[in-house]
Amino acid sequence: MAGEDIAAGGSGKLVVKNIGLILSGDLARPILDADAVVAIDGRISAIGCARDLDFSGAATTIDANGAALTPGLIDSHVHPVAGDWTPRQNQLGWIDSCLHGGVTTMISAGEVHTPGRPRDVVGLKAMAITAQRCFSNFRVNGVKLHAGAPVIEPGLQEKDFAELAGAGIRYLGEVGLGGVKDGPTARKMVAWARKYGINSTIHTGGPSIPGSGLIDKDVVLEADTDVIGHINGGHTALPDDQIQCLCEQCKRGLELVHNGNERAALVTLRTAKELNQLDRVILGTDAPAGSGVQPLGILRMIAMLASLGEVPAETAFCFATGNTAKLRALDCGLIEIGRAADFVFLDRAQHSAGKTLLESVGLGDLPGVGMTVIDGIVRSHRSRNTPPATKLPSIVPG
Ligand SMILES: [Zn+2]
Repeated sequence: MAGEDIAAGGSGKLVVKNIGLILSGDLARPILDADAVVAIDGRISAIGCARDLDFSGAATTIDANGAALTPGLIDSHVHPVAGDWTPRQNQLGWIDSCLHGGVTTMISAGEVHTPGRPRDVVGLKAMAITAQRCFSNFRVNGVKLHAGAPVIEPGLQEKDFAELAGAGIRYLGEVGLGGVKDGPTARKMVAWARKYGINSTIHTGGPSIPGSGLIDKDVVLEADTDVIGHINGGHTALPDDQIQCLCEQCKRGLELVHNGNERAALVTLRTAKELNQLDRVILGTDAPAGSGVQPLGILRMIAMLASLGEVPAETAFCFATGNTAKLRALDCGLIEIGRAADFVFLDRAQHSAGKTLLESVGLGDLPGVGMTVIDGIVRSHRSRNTPPATKLPSIVPG
């Protein structure tokens, strides 16, 4: 298993030059007028034109060779269990495979595939804290997996949320996957979670597998989680009028997942666009699941929404980067000074009908990933999973 004990820490100075296009992750200004980025010890320290920046003393220099740079992609919805193994499809290496699809950060929506997962209060707290510890101590090839997402059950008290937050828990698992399926109880517990700084999400729509249940728009609105988890269903979506109602009647995040209903994702996107609230749209895969793991799931969502949803490709990249970082309180996701130096190098796939990266994505083609960087450290080179990129970055010999 490719992994590492954390404590990488100071990676020194990283210089990235000859960037053909910088996608910022910020909806307000998705393309930056710059061709170089500098990071020190894993944090972005400068962005601009090469002639204006100080490249001296670099520990690592990457020549982008004209490829594009985006913030590392964020998958807002995964279900990890242990290290890089998932029992859902009995698969090894799924997180590393997603890194090759440009994903550098993942958020657990609950470790619900853990065989025999406890549902009593003491047990579910212990499991969440264990998962939080395990995934922060051991990162698969540097991928930041924010795990330890407890699924609420009847009997939880306010003091339990205080205890969980104190132990480092930052996210709730999907409300509705446990015994709490009614609006009033969910609302009370979600408010406790929020009081202690724990960000929340909910399972929206029909049951995903035998044993999970229906959560309709009334429960979603009453629960008032920070994110409306898979508003396009996981897999079974709510009727269109309920989706539109959710978009219109609250301000919470609208999460679109790959393992959901694609038509319902487009309904959501169209509604958010009409409301001029594209900043609420974020992306996830909801993998591993019955549909398996999609290493390119986030890139596929970006290409699907850009090509069928009539939003510019650079906007669609924001759904998987800056939007998610803002709604999920992460320090990555934007090409901005002070943010984590998590990057993906992309270019149009060889032989795409699109002449540029953005044009190719707008036509629905997947881009090629040429390299990933997490915390200022190169984690992967040419992707083994995407189509081959036309322009590839390279490390300048020191
Ligand atoms: Zn779900």
